[in-house]
Amino acid sequence: MTIDSRAGLKKKGVAIMGGTFDPIHNGHLRTAVDILDGYQYANLRLIPCFQPVHKRQPSITPQQRLDMVKLAISSHDGLLVDDREITREGPSYTADTLREIRAQIGPDEPLVMVLGMDSFLSLPTWHNWQDLIKYAHLFVVSRPGWEPDLISELSSFSENYRASSPHELQCMPSGLVWFETLTPLGISSSMIRSLARKDKSIAYLLPEPVQNYIEKHQLYR
Ligand code: ATP
Ligand code: MG
Repeated sequence: MTIDSRAGLKKKGVAIMGGTFDPIHNGHLRTAVDILDGYQYANLRLIPCFQPVHKRQPSITPQQRLDMVKLAISSHDGLLVDDREITREGPSYTADTLREIRAQIGPDEPLVMVLGMDSFLSLPTWHNWQDLIKYAHLFVVSRPGWEPDLISELSSFSENYRASSPHELQCMPSGLVWFETLTPLGISSSMIRSLARKDKSIAYLLPEPVQNYIEKHQLYR
């Protein structure tokens, strides 16, 4: 637990956001900042995967995706990068990552996995998905273009585990689901890759140092 010097509030819990970050963009980053500002988590760790399990392999290396995450967060307090999936190599199963983090932080610390509505809707296809809630809470953020059109399996899952307030997630270690609308930004990595491929500007969709890195290394051409 740390003390927020500005507000004098106690910060509790570890928030994480996994992703391919191919590349990281302002949709990811604004979501992360909204979470840090709106809730009292000590920090938020971005966890780039090594090998995505549900989509095509990225055209750039894990190290390049990691470099861009580091560039994006370098000047923001509270945002951290966790490179465990890249170090671990192999298919990046979230259940493995959550189990590892849980073992490190101990049984009592709240662990909150932030994910967009699109990812949440695909949850039943994830490896050992029913285990995720044993290790962490799920904090599901809305994403323009994705409606909570829940198939029955997810619908009963959400009802079973739904929290009564977001603050409840900081009072227990795991086991709850919360849905929130944060700053809606219709930005995706695929949109950025497609613009770069067509030699169109990607400005203002992602931090300038990340844009410069993409241009310097001629990524997504
Ligand atoms: P791609 O277009 O390649 O699928 P992406 O933009 O969806 O990439 P990911 O790295 O796959 O980015 O996303 C990581 C996490 O961030 C996921 O949980 C995803 O739902 C969430 N996310 C991505 N973009 C946004 C956004 N604009 N608003 C809210 N959440 C987002
Ligand atoms: Mg996606």
